[in-house]
Amino acid sequence: MKPNSPFFIKLLIIQCLSVLSVSQDFDFFYFVQQWPGSYCDTEQSCCYPTTGKPASVFGIHGLWPNYNDGSYPSNCDPDSPFDQSQISDLISSLQKSWPTLACPSGNGSKFWSHEWDKHGTCSESVLDQHGYFEATLDLKKKANLLHALQSAGIQPDGESYSLNSIKAAIKDAIGFTPYIECNVGQSGNSQLYQIYLCVDTSGSNIIECPVLPRGRCGSSIEFPSF
Ligand code: 5GP
Ligand code: 5GP
Repeated sequence: MKPNSPFFIKLLIIQCLSVLSVSQDFDFFYFVQQWPGSYCDTEQSCCYPTTGKPASVFGIHGLWPNYNDGSYPSNCDPDSPFDQSQISDLISSLQKSWPTLACPSGNGSKFWSHEWDKHGTCSESVLDQHGYFEATLDLKKKANLLHALQSAGIQPDGESYSLNSIKAAIKDAIGFTPYIECNVGQSGNSQLYQIYLCVDTSGSNIIECPVLPRGRCGSSIEFPSF
């Protein structure tokens, strides 16, 4: 086939189109929750939202589309900016379950907007803006992490717990093994910062993780109070 034949050019266009559409796809989500006590117990500290101190429970960080090879798409659609009017019915639930702890204090819209623009726009083929935030709030109801840990005697009391006991408590209560992310507290201690569960591409079913993020915790992990 001559490289400039019409057939060759058509083939090239079809290939380009399929690469473009496949690259917008994703394989699964990470559903990430954060422990407020660990976010706050770092050198930068934290600021409570304008709506008040969040409850002493895990808060949502985000729902992140990911690929099976560990890489992930981000900021996929600049033409679909965060629009709070599309989720006005969800605001009070978001304030409760997806509070912002970044400084300066905010009402949460900046955090939700960042998460939508960076991650949500990469799963728009499955979930529109309302669907994305609704699915994330529903996942939090399915995965009560504090309850899971407390059922195994793991409390936010400033004590340290083994990584394996934390993973086992969540596997027992929720049925799937989480990925645990630690941060480093003010006194150099490894502490329980974020818990990742994996979710299928519909955004509604928790699954075993196809791949885990990199990083590690110490074998003994502090669970700070909040
Ligand atoms: P860090 O570098 O602090 O771990 O992550 C910074 C940001 O990068 C996160 O808040 C999140 O938006 C994004 N990110 C980090 N790791 C992953 C990952 O494995 N998958 C996805 N989808 N996003 C990630
Ligand atoms: P990642 O999810 O998408 O890129 O990173 C989180 C971004 O959201 C950071 O820019 C961070 O300043 C902002 N942010 C606002 N509130 C919070 C919060 O409560 N926790 C975390 N981890 N990030 C927050």
